[in-house]
Amino acid sequence: MGVVIVQAIACCRIFSKLFRVMIRDNLNQGAVDCPDSVSLRMLRRMQEGSMANRDAIVSYCEDLLLSSHYQDYCPNGLQIEGKSNITRIVSGVSACQALLDAAIKQHADMILVHHGYFWKNDSRVITGYAKKRIQTILQHDVNLLAYHLPLDGHAILGNNAQLANVMQWAIEGSMHSTCGRDLGLFGHLQQPCSALDLQSKLNKNLAHDPLMIAKNPNTQIKRIAWCSGAAGDDIHHALALGVDAFVTGEPAERLYHIAQETGIVFYAAGHHATERYGVQALGHHLSEHFGIQHTFIDIPCPI
Ligand SMILES: [Zn+2]
Repeated sequence: MGVVIVQAIACCRIFSKLFRVMIRDNLNQGAVDCPDSVSLRMLRRMQEGSMANRDAIVSYCEDLLLSSHYQDYCPNGLQIEGKSNITRIVSGVSACQALLDAAIKQHADMILVHHGYFWKNDSRVITGYAKKRIQTILQHDVNLLAYHLPLDGHAILGNNAQLANVMQWAIEGSMHSTCGRDLGLFGHLQQPCSALDLQSKLNKNLAHDPLMIAKNPNTQIKRIAWCSGAAGDDIHHALALGVDAFVTGEPAERLYHIAQETGIVFYAAGHHATERYGVQALGHHLSEHFGIQHTFIDIPCPI
């Protein structure tokens, strides 16, 4: 009797192993267009990690980023509702068509971005490229979650805090922004350097060639202020702080003259390049907090 039980257990183990190998092989071959592909996809997700509820994620982000406290140019939070169970988040800077297509290829349940839709000056009709984007999202039942100013301003996960990490700048305090809140930061370099050396370091660390406006390229930079994205007019707040340099993402014509006349060194280090890091940090944080998958997809943008 004992021998029979041992043999039965051995058989079960062999079949279980065979079954696992069959499932693994099917998964490696990718999803196929048959009813089994749905259950295979579910199995793949069960293997990969746990699920989280969409509304729990949205509510957690609201508490974390205090997004309803911001007067913004777009809605922050869930912009387009999709499925309620989330196993995989794909993040990116802007919800362009290329990001949507790449996210869907990776079986995203939620797309997390810094630049979403429904901006203040957008057309109120949905046609052309806007129709195609929204159709893609709805057809695949994906959620679009977007955080704009709240993701610039967060003290740890925000674009400006993360930019300090990437550039190894020491933060001393926050800087007022023209949007009405303290989004930017100021501080100092670990090692003072020339304006030209800082330009090279921005280039290297952000993988983007920055525009520099410097009356004297050998000016020593020690104290610095920064605000990611299109925050060029915050140069006035940087001047009030008396820093040597101001970094933002996008330039504006008027900034050239202000930099020339005041001697502050101005860098436009790329809107996309300076805003890659907040959304990655938030996606990574959500992945750890909820035990779900997260992938950042960088869709290159030269601006
Ligand atoms: Zn931006």
